[in-house]
Amino acid sequence: MSRGLIVLDPGHGQFGNPHTTREGYYEGTQNFILANALKAELERCGFEVMTTRPQIEDNPDLEERGKLAGVNHAILFLSLHSNAPGSATPPEQYKAVRGAVTYYSISDPVRNADLATRLNDAVSACMETTNRGIKTRTYPDRPDLDYYGVLRHSVGYGCSCAMLIEHGFHTNPEDSAFLQSTDCLKRLARAEADVLDSFFD
Ligand SMILES: [Zn+2]
Repeated sequence: MSRGLIVLDPGHGQFGNPHTTREGYYEGTQNFILANALKAELERCGFEVMTTRPQIEDNPDLEERGKLAGVNHAILFLSLHSNAPGSATPPEQYKAVRGAVTYYSISDPVRNADLATRLNDAVSACMETTNRGIKTRTYPDRPDLDYYGVLRHSVGYGCSCAMLIEHGFHTNPEDSAFLQSTDCLKRLARAEADVLDSFFD
């Protein structure tokens, strides 16, 4: 019997957000590789898994991604990304900014913060990068509403266990070198699957 459905959301489309450290690598492609490695690990653990991008060329909008989890009664919606510094970051610091951060939905804050902490700790340790901690983000004028569309739509369609991991920065040489390695992404997938295996025990 299935232990429940997990929806994985490899962020962006195939050529979304180039790694600025090395030509030919894209956040959207590396997210896709990570999602498929994690899908295999989770299926081995007995979970059912759907991804929002069955084909690498797929690039559904944010509502379609979150909706997939809600309408199929997923126990978790997990969006997979890597990060880039905001526009306020001084150019000379741009490459140095690194580390993992996990944003979780405010709709079930205590339980979501617990899982987000475990995931972010595991990701930071596996990537040997800075642990930037867990965060929530809401609109300035709507503190009751998740800022990230995929989380908002996941919750809106009924899956309130929703989070988004920024797996380091694809603008930082060390973080992006890790993300460019398929072997490293497989190790990362195993680390995340271990967390989910014990959390949903
Ligand atoms: Zn992203």
